Amino acid sequence: MNSPERNTSEMDAKVKSYLQQYQVSNATLEFLNRQHEHFIDGHWSAGSNGSRLEVLEPSTGGMLTTISQGSAQDVDRAVSAARAQFDGGEWSRLKPLERETRLHKLVDVLQEHALELAEIESIDVGKSVNDASQIDIQGTIDTFRYFAGWASKISGRTGESSLPGEYVAYTRKEAVGVVGSIIPWNFPLQTMAWKLGAALAVGCTVVVKPSEITSLSALRFAELAKEAGIPDGVINIVTGLGEEVGAAMSSHSGIDKVTFTGSTKVGITVGNSALQSMKHMTLELGGKSPVIVFDDVDLKQTAEAVANGIFFNSGQVCDAGSRAYIHHSIYDRFLTELIKYTKQLKIASGLNPECFIGPMVSARQQETVMKYIEAGQTEGAELVCGGKTVEGSGFFVEPTIFANCRNDMAVVREEIFGPVLVTAPFETEEEVIDLANDSIYGLAAAIYSNSLSRVHRVIPKLKAGSVYVNGHGTIDPAMPFGGYKQSGVGKDLGAEQLEYFLETKAVWITLT
Ligand code: NAD
Repeated sequence: MNSPERNTSEMDAKVKSYLQQYQVSNATLEFLNRQHEHFIDGHWSAGSNGSRLEVLEPSTGGMLTTISQGSAQDVDRAVSAARAQFDGGEWSRLKPLERETRLHKLVDVLQEHALELAEIESIDVGKSVNDASQIDIQGTIDTFRYFAGWASKISGRTGESSLPGEYVAYTRKEAVGVVGSIIPWNFPLQTMAWKLGAALAVGCTVVVKPSEITSLSALRFAELAKEAGIPDGVINIVTGLGEEVGAAMSSHSGIDKVTFTGSTKVGITVGNSALQSMKHMTLELGGKSPVIVFDDVDLKQTAEAVANGIFFNSGQVCDAGSRAYIHHSIYDRFLTELIKYTKQLKIASGLNPECFIGPMVSARQQETVMKYIEAGQTEGAELVCGGKTVEGSGFFVEPTIFANCRNDMAVVREEIFGPVLVTAPFETEEEVIDLANDSIYGLAAAIYSNSLSRVHRVIPKLKAGSVYVNGHGTIDPAMPFGGYKQSGVGKDLGAEQLEYFLETKAVWITLT
């Protein structure tokens, strides 16, 4: 199934030279040099209006490729394919063990193409190729492997009726139907796996809208899924803008469930729209996750963990530990360690194997982060590390730390989604719990302490969907992930997620 070659002169010379410098594999080059179209009903499909969107490479700022700018008509076609497959096709009717086997085969194919997928993700997002390999692609593989196993373990229950008369009562678990999945740009393939793993395992079919900034890995994934034997129409990808493709999906009457990951602002729009036709929905939204450092920790080790918790993926992580509250008795010494460690983090292009801090995903994201850094200084936060863009053409921002922040500052209240850590001292346990919970968000929180009693006292008081103790951002497909408050509705991952893709039917049989 070949996608047409496009004129490679579209790729900017500086991007070509960047790919050559790091000896990107032939498979990746061949993929990048294609004309990227939608993937509908198992085939590449040109957009109905012929419009295209440019994709920029973040380390150089140069043009990488273009993708199709989808429309509501393209969404209609994709939903029809997913609907036909769900209502009349084989996927939802496969014997559970057969669906499980097909998903394991998909995982094997992904594993075979892991290097290529990691390169595509690194080039498209600008992230460290090592992180792409070890986190994004390995996480994708692990997620599908985990959910493959659930395909054969879905079951209802029998009920004991107290009514007069004789009944047999039981529940059936049924796949919810066609799922519309809308994805952000920070972990494109892995987030897609978080949405698709459970959906496919229970027998749903899907229409996916990747972020317009980072659609490439989703397109390659769809092609690999076909190669692995996933039937046509089960996985459909429509690329394009949120206001066009995403909005058409949120309101589409042929979609039974929307699973969205992105900002709280857009999540509210998507949720409102989905509610008009009573779609099921999962919303995984923004965060401003607090980190609490008590006075009994190893300063150096904890400073490194706190820095990694915010600067990993250049701070473009939903549960990044972006607000650190540090006990006043260690505040100055802790900041010294934090700054020392942060200053030696390697800022480099994603394909450079030494990269720790890659560029922001886009010029727009770089601009947003720089505006916050300026706002922090205007509001009186003390800039103690970084704060500047990096010379050159890519979208780089230095890892940045603010000291002596207050909770009423925009840099403390709002999600920056970049390499910016705000810090403040605290005195008591009660005070820091209030400071940590003083946010519209509740995605995650971290506690650093060696006191078992203190840690267990604080965990239940934090209003957050994940609490990390003496670490940050630990993710395993077997554990649920999802926010409290305005960080979302519902859970991704874990056994908990399956329910969000299932209807429960109560069956009553009257014995006569
Ligand atoms: P975003 O909300 O701007 O976009 C997310 C997706 O929604 C994109 O595909 C976009 O095209 C689409 N979209 C935009 N407008 C739309 C509309 N009107 N209708 C339907 N779809 C629309 O988010 P982003 O900038 O891509 O990603 C960053 C955000 O994602 C951050 O807020 C981050 O915290 C959040 N995020 C959350 C999680 C989580 O699990 N909670 C994980 C990763 C990222």
